[in-house]
Amino acid sequence: MATDKSAPLYHPETLAIRAGRETSPYGEHSQGLFLTSSFTFDTAAEAAALFLGEQEGYTYSRFTNPTVDAFQQRLAAMEGGERAIAAASGMAAIQAVMMACLKAGDHIVASQSLFGSTTNLFIGTLAKFGIDTTFVDGGDLEAWQQARRPETRLFYLETPSNPLTDVFDIKAIADIAHQGEVLLVVDNCFCSPALQQPLALGADLVVHSATKYLDGHGRVLGGAVVGRSELIEPIYLHVRSAGPTLSAFNAWVLLSGLETLHLRMEKQCANALELAAWLESHPAVERVYYPGLPSHPQHALALAQQKAGGAVVSFVVKGGREAAWRVVDSVQLISRTANLGDVKSTITHPASTTHARITPEARANAGIVEGLLRVAVGLEHVDDLKRDLLHGFVA
Ligand SMILES: *Cc1c(COP(=O)(O)O)cnc(C)c1O
Repeated sequence: MATDKSAPLYHPETLAIRAGRETSPYGEHSQGLFLTSSFTFDTAAEAAALFLGEQEGYTYSRFTNPTVDAFQQRLAAMEGGERAIAAASGMAAIQAVMMACLKAGDHIVASQSLFGSTTNLFIGTLAKFGIDTTFVDGGDLEAWQQARRPETRLFYLETPSNPLTDVFDIKAIADIAHQGEVLLVVDNCFCSPALQQPLALGADLVVHSATKYLDGHGRVLGGAVVGRSELIEPIYLHVRSAGPTLSAFNAWVLLSGLETLHLRMEKQCANALELAAWLESHPAVERVYYPGLPSHPQHALALAQQKAGGAVVSFVVKGGREAAWRVVDSVQLISRTANLGDVKSTITHPASTTHARITPEARANAGIVEGLLRVAVGLEHVDDLKRDLLHGFVA
């Protein structure tokens, strides 16, 4: 069945539920799950036409599957992009971008506030293949400008950053990238398309860890890249030959996740804002990092670029590691886990977990102090979250 080509006329909430819907000849109303590795052909000639791309259809699930297609089309519509390609995880998506867009001798400029595995991909794997990365303070526009070389092909950033929720100016950085032939890639994991659409602000490609807010329930790993068709085509070809493919089952789970994305984000952001304001007024707390608070250094930029402050709140408790660990160990409701994007709230001590393997100096430079805690706020009643945190506060 054809996808509704008038989809862009609809509001984002509608696209999240309707875009990319495909119905088999049975006419099922829910999304069909096509758990099949391959598809059969009526004739040898049909097989030949399908493999040559002369005829549209499905051949083999490493690169064509109706359930994965539905997820790709829906996410592309939600990000305002022409085309999306799904991948097995967020890291598989990011890796596919690098493999498809870069070659030995190319150069990347990246914000220094990145997901740890992304940094490791740049300084480990890519460096090994002759692709060099310069890390800059993402908020310093001059630094992006100065780090660019003739061989720079790609700018890379995440906004808001993890865990301190720094907000970077996508449009301004896109403008700098586009003074040359540089692609701007934005990891939109923390906001999701419900809050921020980097392509509309000038980014060339958006990458996602679908594992987080797109699923929203901490069930499956998944990833995706969205952008213009001509940029997605080589990434698709890479996924087709290298195989970091999203499974049909995971795509099916993610499709149902997308249906509630807007509702979840709206409520989780409201909870986060209320929790952040309460934390800011609590005597046990030294400092709160949340883009939705007027005290956040990029509050105005966040309001211009995002629909809300997001659902991640970081804060520093007085008393260093001992006080921070007391909070982590005292919670009875909030989950002690490093994941985020779930409807269940989670708490992490970044200095001893996600950021433990960098040097103490690098940690200090990044502002990851011993008293810092990160809460990814979920859908529980916010009063229950406050009461839970109070178990560990001494003040
Ligand atoms: C989790 C995460 C990733 C990696 O995604 P996986 O699905 O775990 O591979 C990339 N970027 C950000 C910002 C993340 O939070």
